[in-house]
Amino acid sequence: MGHPTDQFNRPLRDLRISVTDRCNFRCVYCMPKEVFGNDYQFLERKDILTFEEIARVAGIFHGLGAEKVRLTGGEPLVRRNLEQLIEQLAKIPGLDLTLTTNGSLLERKAEALRKAGLKRITVSLDALDDATFKRMNDVDFPVSKVLAGIEAAAAAGLTPVKINMVVKRGENENGILPMARHFRKTGHILRFIEYMDVGHTNGWRMDDVVTAREIVNMISREMPLEPADPNYTGEVAQRWRYKDGSGEIGVIASVTQAFCRDCTRIRLSTEGKLYTCLFATAGYDLRGLLRGGRGDAEIGDAIAAVWRQRADRYSEIRTANTARDAKVEMSYIGG
Ligand code: SAM
Repeated sequence: MGHPTDQFNRPLRDLRISVTDRCNFRCVYCMPKEVFGNDYQFLERKDILTFEEIARVAGIFHGLGAEKVRLTGGEPLVRRNLEQLIEQLAKIPGLDLTLTTNGSLLERKAEALRKAGLKRITVSLDALDDATFKRMNDVDFPVSKVLAGIEAAAAAGLTPVKINMVVKRGENENGILPMARHFRKTGHILRFIEYMDVGHTNGWRMDDVVTAREIVNMISREMPLEPADPNYTGEVAQRWRYKDGSGEIGVIASVTQAFCRDCTRIRLSTEGKLYTCLFATAGYDLRGLLRGGRGDAEIGDAIAAVWRQRADRYSEIRTANTARDAKVEMSYIGG
């Protein structure tokens, strides 16, 4: 099949798979209740890719050069029997298999995920302060249960555990230092993410973004930091380590220091559409091919053709106007 490159010579390396568009949180910046309320129409069972279909697609992607698969959503752990999918994906030789979760069900599931073949995990946690966290998740979910999930993941060997904190001005920037203090010396890697204009339901404004630079400066004043080399080209997080050797943090400056030029990611939505950018407005339907009796080679050719045409660099050309475009929601396309 060969390994395709896109219009800017970027190879295809990472596949993010959204295994469900549902989530048990209603984070105000991602799935606000006003939009994702009781009458919101989530995808129907028959429309979402089965585990067999997902595993098949992942195998085809692997043949095209994808080395890493991240399961996401929605909340991936609300998809029933997810371990069975992980077992199937773990059979693909050499694949780096990971998952992003809100951690709510992790304490219960960490061991089974590890046994099924998951290698690492990323847990989202936006605050250590219960009042702030509950205001952000909007379903009254306590911090302690996410922390218990993180510890269960570490105990199960899903390490290093990465913790993602989205920082939104006026919501949780007061939590930056407490989070840094808490996770230093634990071996877990805390990463701060600039609040992005994904989808079009979150009413994003540039003023809401606490920049990666501000975050690093704030932490470094109390706990001095120095830059660390990237682990590999295209790594989204810039690494910083504590000068006293007590660990490292990452900052994901997707808004203020866009990293489109190294972007090797493609996303598969829950219903089998391919998106070549998190900020895409349209996807390419793979489900039709999968259910239409096409062979792996033909599907691989179709994916390669989509990748070869790819010229996305949204974050490098973002303006206040593009932020209002009708982009697909992150909960659907997968974060
Ligand atoms: N439910 C899982 C979770 O909570 O990690 C996976 C899906 S969630 C969409 C993936 C990540 O995207 C989370 O860390 C979430 O905080 C982040 N996210 C959602 N909306 C965002 C936004 N507007 N800007 C930056 N990150 C965002």
